[in-house]
Amino acid sequence: MEVESGSWSGMWDDLPDAARSIVKELIIHGPASRTALARTLRLSTGSLTRLTKPMVDAGILVEGDVVHDPVNGRPTRPLDVAAGEHRFFGVKLTADHVHAVVTDLRAQIVAARDEPISDHAPEAVCRQARRLLDELSGGEKPPVGAGVTLGGDARAAVQLGGEPLVDSGFLGWRQVPLKRLLEQALGVPCVVKNDVAALAHQHHWFGAARGLRDFALVSIGAGIGYALVVHDHLVAATEADLGMFAHLVLNGGGPMCPEGHRGCAAAYLSSESIVTAAGQGLRRPVTYEEVMRLAARGDKVCLGVVGEAADALGRLIAHIATFSMVKRVIVVGEGVELARVAKDDLGRALSADRRGVTNSVEVIIEADDFREWARGGAVVAIQGFVTGSD
Ligand SMILES: [Zn+2]
Repeated sequence: MEVESGSWSGMWDDLPDAARSIVKELIIHGPASRTALARTLRLSTGSLTRLTKPMVDAGILVEGDVVHDPVNGRPTRPLDVAAGEHRFFGVKLTADHVHAVVTDLRAQIVAARDEPISDHAPEAVCRQARRLLDELSGGEKPPVGAGVTLGGDARAAVQLGGEPLVDSGFLGWRQVPLKRLLEQALGVPCVVKNDVAALAHQHHWFGAARGLRDFALVSIGAGIGYALVVHDHLVAATEADLGMFAHLVLNGGGPMCPEGHRGCAAAYLSSESIVTAAGQGLRRPVTYEEVMRLAARGDKVCLGVVGEAADALGRLIAHIATFSMVKRVIVVGEGVELARVAKDDLGRALSADRRGVTNSVEVIIEADDFREWARGGAVVAIQGFVTGSD
């Protein structure tokens, strides 16, 4: 069964770039008057009216109630996108779970579900995604695009005959034509992206970095991830680049990582490093959650381990800010709790490595939620749709 791709998507394909910029501006920053839009996008009001009229007629844009224009005081009807009319499907794949969301054009989640992966074969995972999509959309408003995110180099390590192929160690996949399989299963255009990159896109348009041209995002958990946005563009990174980041040595005398580095970021910050260090002190195996709980209660061993990890995170963020000159760093991932439990250690290390200047970098610690990662998938689908690229 083919999914209908929405009545206005045909018209969408022919939209000029200037019209797409108007939609993008409205999606990210909300309703605006024609004069305000013209000023922001450096268009004449005449051009703006000419570009928006067919989109209003087609139902892509809607006009709000009459208000007084903040620019010239005249009565005006602000424009907005018909966000609720359009649906996007976002998926995050982990080693054992599919996390799926359906969102509107502003990435607001309208339905969500998580379930274990029943069969790890790529075709089976795509079928499972299709079933989740059908259940979540309940036969109403089929999506116009989908985005699937996973850890590792989801940009496709190898290209044979122009077809992107995905390797995923944790799913046991080698050279899988995931985009094609997904498009066959879902019947809509699909974007496949690295999960950390997708989350950075989400924050850029809809989250803690909305309106910023430059920021960085660090994810901590099983591994250490990184994304850098400069002048509104995500800096392209390979698996090797991200490996360099995760194993940046912060303290030459620190604990050892599985690759044999002393005091690298992963040696301090990965969940495995933290439970290993805490388990050694406590003389028994512990979970990550238990280490955080014990640290929050003042247990000396756990407080020591978490404090050292937060100190390493502060130094890592100082390095990021110093080299890239971003002023905001967002911390995400299943390991973010350490940044909250040992916030003071993080702040001290950060300002110590920033020549004692406090607040030279704003650190935003996000709550960890797998739906946010799935939402990242929906956001890259929205961006592909709005900008006409993938
Ligand atoms: Zn290392």
